[in-house]
Amino acid sequence: MRKPPETKRYHTLTDELSTRYGKKTFKIALDGSFTCPNRDGAKGTGGCAFCSLRGSGDFAGDRTRQLADQFSERLALMKRKWPDGKYIVYFQAFTNTYADPKHLQELYESAINLDPDIVGLNVGTRPDCLDDAVVAVLKELASKTDVTVELGLQTIHPGTQAAMNLCYATDDFDDAVVRLRSARIPVVAHVIDGLPDETPEMMRETIRHVAALGVAGVKIHMLHVMNGTAVGARYAADPFPLLTLTEYVSIVCDQLELLPPDVVIHRLTGDAPAALLIAPEWTKKKFVVQNEIDKELRRRDTRQGSKATRSL
Ligand code: SF4
Repeated sequence: MRKPPETKRYHTLTDELSTRYGKKTFKIALDGSFTCPNRDGAKGTGGCAFCSLRGSGDFAGDRTRQLADQFSERLALMKRKWPDGKYIVYFQAFTNTYADPKHLQELYESAINLDPDIVGLNVGTRPDCLDDAVVAVLKELASKTDVTVELGLQTIHPGTQAAMNLCYATDDFDDAVVRLRSARIPVVAHVIDGLPDETPEMMRETIRHVAALGVAGVKIHMLHVMNGTAVGARYAADPFPLLTLTEYVSIVCDQLELLPPDVVIHRLTGDAPAALLIAPEWTKKKFVVQNEIDKELRRRDTRQGSKATRSL
């Protein structure tokens, strides 16, 4: 495999995809009209405390429209800027494996066949919604396209998991990663820094844990305190301390140093709709956050993997 170009001191998704597909490659977020077992009572009610009303899919397509229409609308926007790209269809909003396996298979198949330039399928889900039948569907799909599962973890700490009403445990995450890896499906772990009452060391422990499990990628972002969420209501009633930009940058650089160099860094910033975001304000300036992370790694003269103990 060709070595990815070194545009950063960490292994970015952009570089990984350009190397793999030879072209600029975009994710196109589609909404498959899923719900979530942490909202409908199957696992819990009210959802994760930070989750927005759109199930963390605020930038996905319009769920009232057909997949083909959602895709073509996004594609037209992309093509204005990059007429010649490749595409990964991404089911992001809510829990995208929470349905009958036959329905999942048909939905995923229809998505990957929307356009000849689609090279992959990303499925975002909870770790407790991946039984063997669902994994078998994903494995079958993986013989036709590049399938990746994006798995919410957020934190390995039970106290925070309970406070954030996640309604799954670290064991669920570990079990899902092991079974997906044995089906040769890469896993991207989602982690949130700055959850209430977590120390920097707790955040580093979460990253050490996912690194030891052999995930293929990570997404890290700062907790967004948003209107319409339980976290937002808690913050409004009794504001709790949030990480400053400097603190966040320092923790993320620690975490990058702990991750093996071959783990793909999908994201180090998040998107919260401006109309919903209460705090922290600095998360709106994604380029500033990214630049500060780059500057801090240069200042330390370290890079992703400088303190890692494992390689994939
Ligand atoms: S599992 Fe995902 S969709 Fe469900 S409540 Fe939590 S963040 Fe939202």
